[in-house]
Amino acid sequence: MNFNYLALAVPFFLFLIGLEFWVSKKKGKHFYNFNDTVSNLSIGIAERLLDGLTLGLFYFVYDYLYKHFAIFHIQPSVLSWIGLLLITDFLWYWYHRLGHEVNLLWSVHVVHHQSEEFNFTVSARITLFQAVARTFFWSLLPIVGFSAEMITTILLVHGLYPFFIHTRTVGKLGILEYILVTPSHHRVHHANNEQYLDKNYSDVFIIWDKLFGTFAEEIEEPTYGLTKPLNSNSFLWQHFHFMLEMGYAFKYAEGWREKLKMLFGKPEHINPTYRRVLEQKFVIHKTDKLHSTRFRNYVVLQMTLILITLFAFLLLEGQLGLATQIATTFIILITLVNCGAILEQRRWIFYLEYIRCFLILWISYIHFENTINPYFLSSIILIVTLYFKTLNRQYLRLIYGLHNN
Ligand SMILES: [Zn+2]
Ligand SMILES: [Zn+2]
Repeated sequence: MNFNYLALAVPFFLFLIGLEFWVSKKKGKHFYNFNDTVSNLSIGIAERLLDGLTLGLFYFVYDYLYKHFAIFHIQPSVLSWIGLLLITDFLWYWYHRLGHEVNLLWSVHVVHHQSEEFNFTVSARITLFQAVARTFFWSLLPIVGFSAEMITTILLVHGLYPFFIHTRTVGKLGILEYILVTPSHHRVHHANNEQYLDKNYSDVFIIWDKLFGTFAEEIEEPTYGLTKPLNSNSFLWQHFHFMLEMGYAFKYAEGWREKLKMLFGKPEHINPTYRRVLEQKFVIHKTDKLHSTRFRNYVVLQMTLILITLFAFLLLEGQLGLATQIATTFIILITLVNCGAILEQRRWIFYLEYIRCFLILWISYIHFENTINPYFLSSIILIVTLYFKTLNRQYLRLIYGLHNN
């Protein structure tokens, strides 16, 4: 059997997250918050899942550019690997800095900064859109003359490093503070304290911030998150709120000069009242008064099952048929939307349950065609459809403890 051993990253990182949680508890610190952790992991799961499917495409882009547009053809050697790491890190600095200074790029990077906690799970807050934006910057590497094999290897190392700097359990690291990006430096980057804004963009080496004048040392205790907090656990809202704000600002800007400023200008140029207008439009922040906390256990159960599914999916990716891959991808994404919506106490989640149920039945049928009777499956679907209203009411009562729906 042909396994994808990169999938082992899932249990490895989960182990480290558990370890950090345990250490912080032992120290009597509250570095973890339930809703934030669920949001962080949800975003990370979606990215791992979709990135697993698109990795080949990124490789193809690098390979195509190398074969057709490379200025040099650089051979692997100790020096060229060091050079590649430095150039990658330099490109990262500018990708990241522009990610904060240009609205179009901020609309995808903002997701990384929404958490008001700072722990290992925050490193998972990367989206596929961000991976695509980054690929544009990395595309300079094959043009300079590095092969796709070298690039994907270095990106793996470069991509692993930031995980370790998202923690409050490590203090300052002596001499390393002068060379590498440390947890202390990155805490500053995620802080919303006035003196820490737009600082410390580097990824592996801190030299770029020092060189381009964006370095700040951690002195005062940081507070984390956006300057205008989102206060939402919705999976979709977290991903798309700034894109919508930007679109709204673009629509209402007068003249092309102003319109372009909404896309390529700085985030502070966007009128902050637009978010409130959109929040009302998409019914964000309207929560019911609950009689139960059972819904949290249900979220924990779903997250556990989805992490196991993700691990199995990545490990066996090469052996799964296309239909199973597509259905599993949708089941995972629906579950993530569902978990966020449960934390927001939405009532429409039963519709998601209904779709998910169909997809699970479909996958079961594909794999166990001979043992599952199609009439039996059809009757389940029929019963669920006929008793939809009753089941919906019972379901909401079970999850939220609602009696008056
Ligand atoms: Zn950032
Ligand atoms: Zn970060």
